Amino acid sequence: MYREKLITKIHRHRFLKEHEEKILQAYDFAEDAHEGQLRHTGEPYIVHPLAVAIQTADWGLDATTVIASLLHDIVEDTSHTLDEVKRLFGDDVAFIVDGVTKIGQRVRYQGNQSQADTLKKMILALSRDIRVVFVKLADRLHNMQTLDAVPIAKQRRIALETNEIYAPLAYRIGMATLSGDLEDLAFPYLHPRENKWLSTAIQEHLAEGEEYLSRVKEVVSKELHHHRIKYQRIDTRAKRISSLYKKLKRVSMDLNQVYDLVAVRIIVPNISSCYAALGVIHSLWPPLPGKIKDYIALPKPNGYRSLHTTVFCLDKKLTEFQIRTEEMHNENEYGLAAYWAYQQSKGSKRYEEGSRVTFARHSELDILNQIKKWQESFVETKEIIESLKIDLFSDRIFVLTPDGEVIDLPEGSTPIDFAYEIHSDVGNTCVGARVNDKLVALDRPLEDGDVIEIVTQKNKLPNKSWLAIVKTSKAKTRIRAALRQAEGEDDKQPITYTITARDRLGLMKDISAVFSQQKTNIVSIVSRPVRGSQFTTVKISAEITNLDKAEKILLKIKSLKNIREVSYKK
Ligand code: MN
Repeated sequence: MYREKLITKIHRHRFLKEHEEKILQAYDFAEDAHEGQLRHTGEPYIVHPLAVAIQTADWGLDATTVIASLLHDIVEDTSHTLDEVKRLFGDDVAFIVDGVTKIGQRVRYQGNQSQADTLKKMILALSRDIRVVFVKLADRLHNMQTLDAVPIAKQRRIALETNEIYAPLAYRIGMATLSGDLEDLAFPYLHPRENKWLSTAIQEHLAEGEEYLSRVKEVVSKELHHHRIKYQRIDTRAKRISSLYKKLKRVSMDLNQVYDLVAVRIIVPNISSCYAALGVIHSLWPPLPGKIKDYIALPKPNGYRSLHTTVFCLDKKLTEFQIRTEEMHNENEYGLAAYWAYQQSKGSKRYEEGSRVTFARHSELDILNQIKKWQESFVETKEIIESLKIDLFSDRIFVLTPDGEVIDLPEGSTPIDFAYEIHSDVGNTCVGARVNDKLVALDRPLEDGDVIEIVTQKNKLPNKSWLAIVKTSKAKTRIRAALRQAEGEDDKQPITYTITARDRLGLMKDISAVFSQQKTNIVSIVSRPVRGSQFTTVKISAEITNLDKAEKILLKIKSLKNIREVSYKK
């Protein structure tokens, strides 16, 4: 029965024959692996991976993602291993399954904001392949849809994590609808009382509004016809409960002050019709000043594009209109998933036949420009976009500091490499490392998503044996430098220069510049005016082991302006 559901679905999405077979093979493997397991709902476990797979297929994603969706809980919840997945379904599928598993194990939101940021970054670090995020989000969506069946003690934590981590993450990668769906699903668990009140209140408002909206729709469509502006459809929609609640908090929970409980959405064929339709609306009804938003000329940071306006509509009722093209609409709904689907479908059968993804009509340049805009306007999106490209650098790993900063290192890097990446002092004085809260040996190779804390000890020196362990050239150079300096220091005796000069502006600066040019550290400077004259005596001790260098410095100082006498002694 479940298998049939999947077959129908993948037929509709027109996968290649061999992909279709592979998807079904993954299904059979998963069904077998989860045999005997039940969900909290009492259904067989396979229902869950199936729902996740259908979701990623509906987003227009490729067979690899759909297969990984079917297998995403295999490693965590069954006796099968990642190696088996890799052998049967290939490296890409295994990589996605591994990423989703690690996110599941390591991302545990306990409720404070700074942690939320770390966790979002960790998800990114674990998602070098952006498809990991898509599968994880589809996984979370289905878990939220069935949250009622989960023990009450766990419900709130999961809802909170969804609201604070996954919904913002979805929003950031442009999957606005998904983000709103996740927030709406979490809402009743986070605000049970408000949910009860709002659901009833909205119902009443909507009943009232339906007749009104159909009148608005009629007037608008007539007027668009009259001006020969083509449109694909006019939708009306109620405001989401979660975003309504956010808005209500700003107006002391007075429902009468929220005028855009419903919005009218007009979908038109191209950008110029967007502006033409906006003109028509404004010629029908006066706009509310300050509420005209041109997100086409200036897209929102997450890439959202649309025209918005709120007008004094029929019966002087304030009503919001959103005007956009179908492409914009899809971008707004599916964000990076749509982009990814488009990239994958290029040149394939799905692309040629024109799949659900209207991005097929988009020129690639448009999308690249869009991505570029995201990059410029949004640092965190930049991280995500970067993670799209990171496949090219599959020999890199991404780890985190306890503060959530993402550090990238070559594969096989150790905690020592990490320490030197943070700061050479941290590297030099490193004595131990905690990885994911466990003390580990300093030569243990790090893995994607590890959170690393370095234990340091003052005045410690790097160990010569580290040179054989570290992977980065940065660590190697710094270890050598520290060791060289330590050896040098033993027989290092400062040399002291005595300089007599007529004082002038910039004299001290010129003298110390000579030392820095010779890469010599000054240990101390004492300067004293010579009584009864315009002269000053300056005594400088510096760390010099090499007498040639000492002589060079002497000559250089002598050549400066206003210097009368220079000498040095050991
Ligand atoms: Mn799952």
